Amino acid sequence: MKIKNVRSQVPRDPRNRAPQKRNLNDIRRIVWHHGMTRRGLGGTNYLAYLRFHVNDNGWRLGGYTFGVEPNGEILQGYDLDIITYHVGNYNRHSLGIVLPGDFRYEDPTSAQYKAAVELTNWLLDQLPRNDIEVVGHQEVPTYAWKNCPAIDMNKVRRDVRNKKSSGGIVKGTSTSVTLPQLISPFMRGNDVKDIQADLTKLGYDLGEVDGIFGPKTDAAVRAFQKNAKITVDGIVGPQTLGALKDALEKKQEKAEEEKSKAPAPADEERWRLVTGTFSDADTYARAIRRIENRHPWLIHEFSTKEGTNPYYRIVTGTFRGKNVAEFWAEDIRENLGWNVRVQHANDSI
Ligand SMILES: [Zn+2]
Repeated sequence: MKIKNVRSQVPRDPRNRAPQKRNLNDIRRIVWHHGMTRRGLGGTNYLAYLRFHVNDNGWRLGGYTFGVEPNGEILQGYDLDIITYHVGNYNRHSLGIVLPGDFRYEDPTSAQYKAAVELTNWLLDQLPRNDIEVVGHQEVPTYAWKNCPAIDMNKVRRDVRNKKSSGGIVKGTSTSVTLPQLISPFMRGNDVKDIQADLTKLGYDLGEVDGIFGPKTDAAVRAFQKNAKITVDGIVGPQTLGALKDALEKKQEKAEEEKSKAPAPADEERWRLVTGTFSDADTYARAIRRIENRHPWLIHEFSTKEGTNPYYRIVTGTFRGKNVAEFWAEDIRENLGWNVRVQHANDSI
């Protein structure tokens, strides 16, 4: 497997904001996306998506760490420890791979699929955690509504796993944690304090956080071990420390999820453009070409309806801020003469 480094070719943020970083240990998911633009259209490639994100959406960097092109080429735009934007509140814990194409209407090419499986395997081997999930965008919490990547992720997971067992990839030991010496009760110190604080955060009542491993702390540790379904022995070793860390992260994610349900401030809200309908498939195809010539990024998403009464309309990706969407709507009305409306991203098309 070859990975082509395109880090020098990714679009630069005009505002020069520094990328946000994470520890590799933060990565808990590898998320597959499709690009939602059809193969063969201009703009259906990894770097074009990144340009769309930065130049049109105004993000400081593009959405995905990797792109796997239809010809099977694997491109890497960002270091693994850079947080890219693809799953909202879950970005820190998620690494994004995009497969250019629109898998609602077409399948990934076999070269593309094979390369994406290989890349996923390679990442599972590179990344420190042993419990990394391979998921589709739609399977990330709060994204059930999103038809991405529109391929069978159970098959992907089977293919990834089969490959792993036959390829004999051996995972290195994961994290290096400093182990507090807590093998007998009544120990004191900051390690104990940290553990008491963690347990308190998780809702275990152990009285005062005093750095003394007394009977109450011992009871709390055992209660936690029981709930976490690990060995109940009152000993805080690697297994319990790992479970504590996971429980805290889960709690944090849940809090973030709750927060994400609150309405976004007006200037962060997303809007898209929806055209009127085109009379037939040919007119629609010509319309796609016209809009593509003018704004390659605009055909981020489009819909057709099959059946006895098909209709065809173009739906764009989303813009941050209604004024930005209005601007492009006006541009389309003026230059292409089409009927187009601005719609809130939460409304159905
Ligand atoms: Zn996606």
